[in-house]
Order: sequence, then structure tokens, then C-alpha cells
Amino acid sequence: MSEDVFKKIVSHCKEYGFVFQSSEIYDGLSAVYDYGQMGVELKNNIKKYWWDSMVLLNENVVGIDSAIFMHPTIWKASGHVDAFNDPLIDNKDSKKRYRADVLIEEYLAKIDDKINKEVEKAAKRFGESFDEGMFRQTNPRVQENQQKRDEVHTRFAKALNDSNLEELRQIIIDCEIADPISGTRNWTDVRQFNLMFSTEMGSTADGAMKVYLRPETAQGIFVNFLNVQKTGRMKVPFGIAQIGKAFRNEIVARQFIFRMREFEQMEMQFFVRPGEELDWFAKWKEVRMKWHKSLGFGDKKYRFHDHDKLAHYANAATDIEFEMPFGFKEVEGIHSRTDFDLSSHEQYSGKKMQYFDPELNKSYTPYVIETSIGVDRMFLSIVSASYCEEELEGGESRVVLKLPPALAPIKLGVLPLVKKDGLPEKAREIIDSLKFDFKCQYDEKDSIGKRYRRQDAIGTPYCVTVDHQSLQDNMVTIRYRDTMAQERVMIDKLADIIADKVSMKNLLKTIG
Ligand code: ATP
Repeated sequence: MSEDVFKKIVSHCKEYGFVFQSSEIYDGLSAVYDYGQMGVELKNNIKKYWWDSMVLLNENVVGIDSAIFMHPTIWKASGHVDAFNDPLIDNKDSKKRYRADVLIEEYLAKIDDKINKEVEKAAKRFGESFDEGMFRQTNPRVQENQQKRDEVHTRFAKALNDSNLEELRQIIIDCEIADPISGTRNWTDVRQFNLMFSTEMGSTADGAMKVYLRPETAQGIFVNFLNVQKTGRMKVPFGIAQIGKAFRNEIVARQFIFRMREFEQMEMQFFVRPGEELDWFAKWKEVRMKWHKSLGFGDKKYRFHDHDKLAHYANAATDIEFEMPFGFKEVEGIHSRTDFDLSSHEQYSGKKMQYFDPELNKSYTPYVIETSIGVDRMFLSIVSASYCEEELEGGESRVVLKLPPALAPIKLGVLPLVKKDGLPEKAREIIDSLKFDFKCQYDEKDSIGKRYRRQDAIGTPYCVTVDHQSLQDNMVTIRYRDTMAQERVMIDKLADIIADKVSMKNLLKTIG
């Protein structure tokens, strides 16, 4: 998919009430977005699917909802005050600011693209007899690019690990990376930039305390670890899940809701015995990938990407990447965080953060596996994968969001054929009987064809049309979004027909 399609998706989101630029009438606020009447429904459904998959399907996972403001020492203990930085670099000509690591990653991705194109071309040329492994090993152009990529990648990983800012700059210079706007290579030094927002709490000037807007929800879980363990009588291994807002002063905020300054996370910290963490890490990787794939967009759209640079707290880390219109990008991070956070809070707070394991008859600081997914990125991945432009017979076309029915904002469109003769009343009757189960939408304006298009565009899986015949036989024409097939069904069968496909329960059953 191209950047062009991405632009269309962004305008589609706006046109149909999914996502608006924040403060639009004041020309917007950069990298902050509002969800509209359709967006909020889709977002809530995504959150419900995640929440239920965690706390309903796992007896040993419970949820919390901690405050956004927390004691400032928490961010000292977590390492965010000292180390939650991104390396930034400015182009002196365009005055634009970039993340140095992202410039290099994009450069590496371009080389990957070149190699893949070469392989695809050859695969077409040779047909059935094509041996990809052999081709990659022997084709001189592929070899040359692969070698270049490996060299840069090794330098890059080392520079990140050593936090060597000069070397990052040198890689940008050596790779002749130019600013996409000015086209020049006139770069400043690379500097570290802390991503946390801060504000003041308290009314008197001298008594005010600097507090941060949380950059992740995880710390709210760590500091409540013992509260939940004791009051919930939880036994290790167990998990705590949370959905909530997080804030990061991102240096480069482009790509719509992919990188926002205010966003929402769904995080789960799973507390395990020391030494068992890598097994649990493997298990949660599998569970989380299954959750993603269950949405039915095709397994090819997902991949794991192991981290080059492990965060200061991790002993294993991977991302689940999704093929966005602008390439494979991280949607979820899965990290083995060791006992870093709990130990650090123990040290900074002076309070014990240990667990007494009755089976082992000893106390220890549990190790933690974290799964952390951005609601907004998940939203973007779902909308991108669902967006289709289809050519129809007779030269017409339609835009349809093929959303998984369980996530669709509206489950059923109810359309009276005409605005008179008792048909609107009949349509309202149908909505009244179904509104307790599904979100239905009534629409009587314009031709039936136009109304179908509007429902297609917001991803409504079913529409029913009420006609004069319906008054006699209590039947309606149901129309299916993806196939556009239509059939006549009894009104009192509607609930069953729709429930089966749109139920969150059935979706959960595919992974539970
Ligand atoms: P990136 O490398 O893209 O900045 P990250 O590795 O810093 O992301 P994590 O700290 O692992 O991200 O956060 C977990 C998840 O939170 C990410 O996988 C992503 O889905 C989401 N997330 C992080 N930052 C943002 C943001 N600025 N806007 C939207 N979602 C975000």
C-alpha cells in the first residue's frame, strides 16, 4: 500500500467521524487527535476485546485503573527522568527536527526494499524453478546491498547500546542521509531529548511540586503490585492489566495517530518466579500474536521484531509489527523486564516489594513480563487493513471498511425503503427490539444505494431494508457488507443472524 492510500485513509477517518484533529478550529494541535462518534465506538470495542482477553480468559489476571499523576520519585526510580530520551538532530537548512535513530532505521528499510524488489523481480523471471536462498547468496547486487546493510546495522546497534551520539551522527553523514525536505545534509550534532511532560501540582508557589504526566501506564501497576497481590490474594504467577492515557513529548510527530503526544496504552505486567521469565516471555509472545491474528487480516501482515537495543530494564524484548500503509511498524512491545522496576521502587521508597511464595517457602522479588500495546496504533492498523476501494459492475465503485464485525461501530443499519406508508415506524420497531443487544443506526435519507454506501464506509456488517411487503409478511431484506449479497429473512430471526457474527464472545472463543 502506498502513501497515497494512507492519505485517503486519513481523510476517510475524518469524513466519517472516526478521527478529528484536536482543536481543529484553532488550526490544530500537533500530534493530538480526537475520536469522533464512530471512532469512539471502534476504540471502545478494541479496548473491550483486549480487556476481556486478559481478565476474562485468564483467571490469574486482574485489572486496575491507576491515576495519571503519580509521585515524582516514581519516575526517578523507573529511570524515566534520567534515561527516557530520544536522540534528536536538526537540519540547519529546513530547520526541521528528526530522530537520529529513525533516520537510520528508514535508511536501512530502504536497502531492505531494494533487496526485496530484486528478489521479487527474479522470482517472476524464473517462475517455479526459483530458489530464493540461492539467489540471495549469489546475486552480486543483492550481496552488495546486504553487506552494506549489515555493516550499517552493526554500527547502529552498537552506537545505540553505547548511547554514542557522535557515532549516530557519523552514520548519518557516512550513509549520506539527506533531509527529505531541504534535500541537504547540513546536520547539527545529535542531542538527547527527554520525552516527559511536566507540570506543577499545588497552589502555593513555594509549595508547588513538579509532577509528570505519565509516559507509560506500567508504573501505576508496579507501585500497586503489593496492594493487588495482598487484597486479591494473588499467587505468583499472576498479572495486572490496565488501560489508560500516556503522554510523550515526541520529537517528530507525523503519521497521523501512529505517533501522538497524548495516546492510550493497554498494558499488562505478569509477575513470575525469577528464572522462569524467559519461558513466560515465550508464552506471552505466542498469546499476543494469536490475539492479533484472530482479527482475520491475514498472518502475513504481522511479524516479530527483536530489539537491537535492550532497554535498561530488559533481558529480552520483541515487538509485534503490523504492515501499515507506510511499512511494517511496531504496534505492541513484549518485554522481559526482570525485577528492575520492583527492586528500584523498593530502593527509592524504602518499602519492601517482595512476595512470599508459600510453595517455595521463601520471599523474592518477582520478575516481570510486560505486554504493552497502543490503542491508537491498533486502531490505525485495523482501519488500514479494513479499508478497501472496490470496483463494482456498471462502472461504479465503493469504499468499504471491512472491519471485523465484533469491532464495527454500528452492527446494523435499518433502512425504510420510503419515508412514508408506515415503513419508518416498522423500522423503528426493529431498532427498539434490537437496541439492547447491538448498536443500530436508522437512516431514511437518500436512495437505498447511497445509504448502503454510507454504511459500507463506516464498516457496518449488516443492513436491513424495510419495504411495503415487510408490513404484511414481517420479513426484511438483509444485505451483507462484504459480499453485498441480499436475502429475505424473518424479522424475528434478525437477532440470531446478527449475534453470531458480531459477538465479542465468539471472537474471544477463537483465542480462549
Ligand atoms: P516507538 O519506538 O515507536 O517510539 P516505543 O518502543 O517507545 O515506540 P513502548 O514504550 O514500547 O513504545 O510503548 C508501547 C506501545 O505504546 C507501543 O508499541 C505503541 O503501540 C504505543 N505507543 C508508544 N508511543 C506512542 C505514541 N507516541 N503514539 C501512539 N502510540 C504509542
